[in-house]
Amino acid sequence: MNEYDSNRIYDLTKKINYLKTENLAEANCYILNTCHIREKATDKVYHDIGRVKKQFRKKTKPIVIVTGCVAQAEGDILLKKEKYIDAVIGPQSFHEINKIILDLEKKQRPVNFTEFDVIEKFDSLNSLKNSCNKISSFLTIQEGCDKFCKFCVVPYTRGSEYSRSFKELTEETKQLVTNGAKEITLLGQNVNAYNFEDKKLSDLIFEISKIKELKRIRYTTSHPKDFTQDLINAHKDCEKLMPLIHLPVQSGSNKILEAMNRKHTIEEYLIIIEKLKKVNSNIKFSSDFIIGYPGETFEDYKQTEKLIKNVKYINSYSFIFSARPGTPAFKLEKVNQSEAKERLISFQSIAEQIKTKYRETLIGRISNVLFENKTKEGNKYFGRDEYLNSVIVKSNESLVGKIKKVKITSGNHNTLYGEALSDLNQNNYAA
Ligand code: SAM
Ligand code: SF4
Repeated sequence: MNEYDSNRIYDLTKKINYLKTENLAEANCYILNTCHIREKATDKVYHDIGRVKKQFRKKTKPIVIVTGCVAQAEGDILLKKEKYIDAVIGPQSFHEINKIILDLEKKQRPVNFTEFDVIEKFDSLNSLKNSCNKISSFLTIQEGCDKFCKFCVVPYTRGSEYSRSFKELTEETKQLVTNGAKEITLLGQNVNAYNFEDKKLSDLIFEISKIKELKRIRYTTSHPKDFTQDLINAHKDCEKLMPLIHLPVQSGSNKILEAMNRKHTIEEYLIIIEKLKKVNSNIKFSSDFIIGYPGETFEDYKQTEKLIKNVKYINSYSFIFSARPGTPAFKLEKVNQSEAKERLISFQSIAEQIKTKYRETLIGRISNVLFENKTKEGNKYFGRDEYLNSVIVKSNESLVGKIKKVKITSGNHNTLYGEALSDLNQNNYAA
């Protein structure tokens, strides 16, 4: 979502002639767009600003603005602690950025803009063409969260659930496709909670799937509680919907899920997985895990291991619980940190084994790959298969924007290599 926001911030600043530069030492304005989900984020802001300071020691100070969720959560502290920062702007206020920059040019500082103006923000952005021209583009359809998991800052930094209008989203999708997008990933902190005048995520998927030049649709991140039957059915009926579902579970223990306020049990979660596999047997899953949540015993942890062995996620994102100020879990007694680390190491090693086994099955098989760009190494092209696996292929003709059948010949932990066979009949996604 920060990538989408950064692109939109740039669509705004272009209007006042603040253009991107590759030459960082000559920039006259720095915008650091930040994430606050885990502990290290704020340290990173100070570190990045330290680097800018060093670079500009003998030069005129550039304008320095911190945007995003760190700005929202810790704006006043940042301004007090780091005088080099001129302004902090929360994720629901960045539509004001041009006014802020122009004020800063007149030396009016420091500025704290952290109101929750989500309606106003999207009203301003709608009048502005989305200029992102990537083959695979992001589109924010929903923001904020009303679920209040006890560990999470999102409800406090992004505010309550808000869904953008159906019409504005179909128009923005058309714009992105006109700019060259072949794949759109619909984004939301709870993307499947999307609800605008009774239109749901599945309605939006079917609507944008009518755009001929759009070949692939994805969405992230879903909450199990909002995984309704219409969305499950969309995986049967919409060929453009990719068969990889990111469905965070956080823990395999019902006791911990309840302590986290996740609002579902493991049994309910597994029923969703089964229903999805039933409508489309090609579907695979990825997930997020928090290891060492307060109260997690070794037995609870073992249940998380059991779950990943059972579901066989092709990608697992796991982190030790990070106590975030302002969340209910902040003050809870932590699990012994060396034990938590041991659990994380063991978890990640099992997750890796599962992933490696899966990747080995791809060698010698045919994948459908959408190519996104030419690599720096001349005639090699980078693309992704339906499951977001990175694939590199040699070719003398440009593959950018094309979907090809690729025979996978080798691979390592991060990348698969293969030979392009033919153009895929672009509406046929049967794997
Ligand atoms: N809304 C999505 C859901 O409910 O699954 C997740 C969105 S959250 C922005 C992304 C991931 O960050 C979560 O799935 C969780 O694993 C991780 N996360 C959030 N807060 C965390 C914390 N305090 N400590 C460790 N990981 C955290
Ligand atoms: Fe955070 Fe997701 Fe829970 Fe909302 S549902 S509080 S975004 S983890």
